[in-house]
Amino acid sequence: MSARTNLGPKPLLGYTDSRLERAAELRTNAAAIDAMAAGPRAGVYVIGGDLIVTQKGAALSDPLFTLAQARAFGPATETVFLGHLDGDGRFGVGIPQGAAEALKTRDDLLVTDLRSIAVQGLVDARHLPPLAEAKAVLQWHLRHRFCSNCGAPSNAVDAGWKRFCPSCKTEHFPRTDPVVIMLIVDGERCLLGRSPRFAPTMWSCLAGFIEPGESFEDAVHRETREEAGIVCGRVKYYRSQPWPFPTSLMIGCHAEALSRDIVVDRTELEDARWFSKDECLAMLMRNHPDGLTMPPPVAIAHHIVRSWVENEVHFD
Ligand SMILES: [Zn+2]
Repeated sequence: MSARTNLGPKPLLGYTDSRLERAAELRTNAAAIDAMAAGPRAGVYVIGGDLIVTQKGAALSDPLFTLAQARAFGPATETVFLGHLDGDGRFGVGIPQGAAEALKTRDDLLVTDLRSIAVQGLVDARHLPPLAEAKAVLQWHLRHRFCSNCGAPSNAVDAGWKRFCPSCKTEHFPRTDPVVIMLIVDGERCLLGRSPRFAPTMWSCLAGFIEPGESFEDAVHRETREEAGIVCGRVKYYRSQPWPFPTSLMIGCHAEALSRDIVVDRTELEDARWFSKDECLAMLMRNHPDGLTMPPPVAIAHHIVRSWVENEVHFD
């Protein structure tokens, strides 16, 4: 393999590079938010639990509705100000999952989950970051309706960016759960694993939630040791990706292996093994002789492996 392996233009990483200006300073300004909502080109993303409501189009579906259209779909569970695009307000409106399910019978709508929308490219890619933003914060509201301090019902305030408990006066903010996702590298080989949840041909990077009081480097060391029995040394940060299933943030890393003998934790992984660069290249190009595959470009794992195959990873 050439030292200058180049797979051509890099595909977009899903849910990243948002064009929205979040304008957090407006969140406490109800008059400004109302004016944004009343704007002639204001747009609303409608989400019912795990389901995204879109308008069917010839090539792509359109996930933006007017506020009036969104209100007609069902009672709003919450409304969140996502930000604005060149002055045009963007909002996320939550409706009950059952109301979204019922919309599946309509011929003019496509109602499906965000993963399918992203992987199959059902909407213009510029809608993926605000859809991720809307889904993550609306799902947080669904799961945090009661104060975690005193148990009383809490209220959404600040255009959906805070919950306030009227009983004990505690403020609650939307949470993001950091996850390390890492490619362990041993020279010209890398370590990939298979979750029992994966499609039968799929292999990917190891990953795991960062625990309280843990740096992401320490989490890479711990997860790799726990899942595959491999000790790793230096960790290099690559890039990150919001993963709104429901509220994760994937922190992509490469790490160097200091040991070689794999011991798979079968409660976490179905299998793990070393892969050559040639094998990874074939999986990325979808022409592996045994039909093995990698996550698609919408997922950060694809980019983490690709950057290593393209010889972009150096530990010194
Ligand atoms: Zn409380």
